[in-house]
Amino acid sequence: MAGTGIFTEILDGEVYKYYSDGEWKTSSSGKSVAIVNPATRKTQYKVQACTQEEVNKVMEMAKSAQKSWAKTPLWKRAELLHKAAAILKDNKAPIAESLVKEIAKPAKDSVTEVVRSGDLISYCAEEGVRILGEGKFLLSDSFPGNERTKYCLTSKIPLGVVLAIPPFNYPVNLAVSKIAPALIAGNSLVLKPPTQGAVSCLHMVHCFHLAGFPKGLISCITGKGSEIGDFLTMHPAVNCISFTGGDTGISISKKAGMIPLQMELGGKDACIVLEDADLDLVASNIIKGGFSYSGQRCTAVKVVLVMESVADELVEKVKAKVAKLTVGPPEENCDITAVVSESSANFIEGLVMDAKEKGATFCQEYKREGNLIWPLLLDNVRPDMRIAWEEPFGPVLPVLRISSVEEGINHCNASNFGLQGCVFTKDINKAMLISDAMETGTVQINSAPARGPDHFPFQGLKDSGIGSQGVTNSINLMTKVKTTVINLPTPSYSMGAGFISRL
Ligand code: NAP
Repeated sequence: MAGTGIFTEILDGEVYKYYSDGEWKTSSSGKSVAIVNPATRKTQYKVQACTQEEVNKVMEMAKSAQKSWAKTPLWKRAELLHKAAAILKDNKAPIAESLVKEIAKPAKDSVTEVVRSGDLISYCAEEGVRILGEGKFLLSDSFPGNERTKYCLTSKIPLGVVLAIPPFNYPVNLAVSKIAPALIAGNSLVLKPPTQGAVSCLHMVHCFHLAGFPKGLISCITGKGSEIGDFLTMHPAVNCISFTGGDTGISISKKAGMIPLQMELGGKDACIVLEDADLDLVASNIIKGGFSYSGQRCTAVKVVLVMESVADELVEKVKAKVAKLTVGPPEENCDITAVVSESSANFIEGLVMDAKEKGATFCQEYKREGNLIWPLLLDNVRPDMRIAWEEPFGPVLPVLRISSVEEGINHCNASNFGLQGCVFTKDINKAMLISDAMETGTVQINSAPARGPDHFPFQGLKDSGIGSQGVTNSINLMTKVKTTVINLPTPSYSMGAGFISRL
């Protein structure tokens, strides 16, 4: 159970502690933040509302701990990460339980998130050992006008303090996807977890604590992003921000100083369906892509753009599958569970009502109880409807009928977002041309968009992000290239003639 067994020390009465200087602490603010269970709408957990002074202290310690961590041998850093991964996987049950209660993620998927996170940490440790253990050796005479008098040695060095801010929908996985690359690269790490998901993150951080990382190297500051966020992101001690979330990321980018940013933001992933597509395959992928975790995934299918000639058949197939989706509590592994908050549910309802007023065809009756919204397919959506462009982050999927592939590509490219997209066709040559034309970070051919496997590069264009994620790319983003140039008085050629005579 959450907060028991090895996790007892992270709880103070009914409020979870924050993590600083290798210890679990109660904030001097005397205030806490409530985490509301999305399904019951009752307070499930409480976390500390940390103060600015506590942030200052954490940053100070992160700066000093990083200096000795950067001198810790790479193999040793990797060893500690493997240890944390093992502890995390061994304790998947209480962490998954908090995911169920905080973000209403179905129980089975919650376990998968924790296990996947352990695997990500281990993969990152292995990859880090390889890519950080190698540098480059360059010779000057390859550039015109130079003789072989300069030897350039390059290596990757850490940035310093990395600030990690993950979103609610994958709080554990998207936290470790920042923590592991930062640590293997020799950085220290300050985590600000999402409020919904904070307790799962605190349990995960305790696994790192138990693995024996040095004091001050990892910290976890809790509190509402709207209250403590600006202070954290504009803190002078921060050398890199790795953020995943919505539009908040755009405002952080405008406020952050001259530091590397990794921004993984929203998306409006289009699914383009051609006339020759395998419609059963498309329908299964639309269900998986559009309705898994109730559509609360950055890479969910968020608009279907289907050729008019096959639209009726596809809509019928998807409708039949929607009818089979189970709706209810996450504890019972229902396909559709309550969305994260009342304000999210209200926002989704606003999009649905706008589509209704403007004449979309409802394939199911719209139904909502509290934060629980029944899956809904909206056919005959037109570009003047908000749902054609906005990210519902809920179990509501619009279908736009198109009369040409160009129309589909133009709709996809007119979006402010450019995260992923997918195209369904049996013609690989056409698929490649469409992929090239779509202005998105990734295009999936004959499958729904997806972030994983976690070592694949993952990036958004336009308002969907800055930089690229994926194990290797994250490690590279959290390092700088350092070069040392050895200048020789005379050109030197390995095994070249005249070597002895020049001595
Ligand atoms: P969000 O509202 O932007 O919140 C993300 C994180 O930012 C949370 O930890 C939040 O803390 C924090 N935050 C809020 N205000 C802040 C501020 N002023 N300064 C610093 N941090 C602040 O996003 P969300 O609702 O959690 O997640 C949904 C969004 O994430 C969707 O748009 C989705 O597409 C996107 N997403 C993108 C990816 C990707 O990889 N591209 C993956 C998953 C999700 P609090 O919880 O305390 O407010």
